[in-house]
Amino acid sequence: HAKENGRNSYQFFTRELNDRARVRLDLENDLRRALARHEFTLAYQPQFDLATGHLIGAEALVRWHHPERGIIPPDQFIPIAEETGLIVPLGAWILRQACATGQAWRDEGLADITIAVNISAHQVRRGQLELTVRQVLNETAFSGHLLELEVTESALMANQAAAATTLKAIQAMGVRLAIDDFGTGYSSLGYLKRFALDKLKIDRSFINDLPDDNDDAHLTRAIIGIGHTLDMLVIAEGVETEAQERFLTELGCDQAQGYLYARPLPAADFRQMQIDLKYQATSKPASSTA
Ligand code: C2E
Ligand code: MG
Ligand code: MG
Ligand code: MG
Repeated sequence: HAKENGRNSYQFFTRELNDRARVRLDLENDLRRALARHEFTLAYQPQFDLATGHLIGAEALVRWHHPERGIIPPDQFIPIAEETGLIVPLGAWILRQACATGQAWRDEGLADITIAVNISAHQVRRGQLELTVRQVLNETAFSGHLLELEVTESALMANQAAAATTLKAIQAMGVRLAIDDFGTGYSSLGYLKRFALDKLKIDRSFINDLPDDNDDAHLTRAIIGIGHTLDMLVIAEGVETEAQERFLTELGCDQAQGYLYARPLPAADFRQMQIDLKYQATSKPASSTA
């Protein structure tokens, strides 16, 4: 029966492969139309200063509302968008939408916060990123000083010289650069010197098991040291517990974001949170008047 089983599992395997290939092809085709069909939205996750507790920023995270499949997380379609080059127009839309929303909040008189936007390696390499950033800042009237671009190590490593030129020109507009998912890449740390990055985001895989995991505790301490040595602000992502927050504050980590504070929120909810925070800061607790 071994032969039969072997053939069955082979057929099962190829059928599964075909299914997966078909899903992938469907998604690719759907992705091509999704921008024109307004199927993307941005969610915003708050970032806080650990020393003061103040809201200091929002990371924009893209969401795809697929008409049949529901919400598809970015990990499932950003790679396809990168392989097909669709990330260039999609990335430009994300940047424009994030800056326009940030400017709308400023126009309302909400406190100035940084808007952080994730940028793919492909956008840095082939996307005329400098021109796109310049145009978006012009169109939206958003200040470059309130914009932060999150790049990954791979975006910096591919064609280093060209990336350095592009990113330096973008920094000259006042825009800040953050290195995302720090500690998960494979390259030497030399690029940190070459690119004058403004912020270091500790990957959440280091934060997860804090404060109990000794290795992660030591690595996190070392990463914060690297960031501060190179004059970068350090932010921890994926902070989920008060124990993690306490530990990071003791280590001198500057900022934090994570489910402890809030999940990524629709723009309207993020706006309401800003209003609530402003109210809390300027009035007595609601309980004293109730
Ligand atoms: P990232 O930039 O490192 O974003 C952080 C991810 O961690 C987000 O997942 C966020 O929802 C999630 N997260 C935040 N706090 C916590 C927490 O406390 N616990 C846990 N377990 N997770 C937390 P999301 O939104 O699914 O995005 C995944 C990745 O997709 C992002 O990682 C980024 O690499 C990429 N991505 C998202 N939006 C964009 C975008 O607009 N453009 C590009 N190029 N990539 C994007
Ligand atoms: Mg990010
Ligand atoms: Mg990250
Ligand atoms: Mg990530």
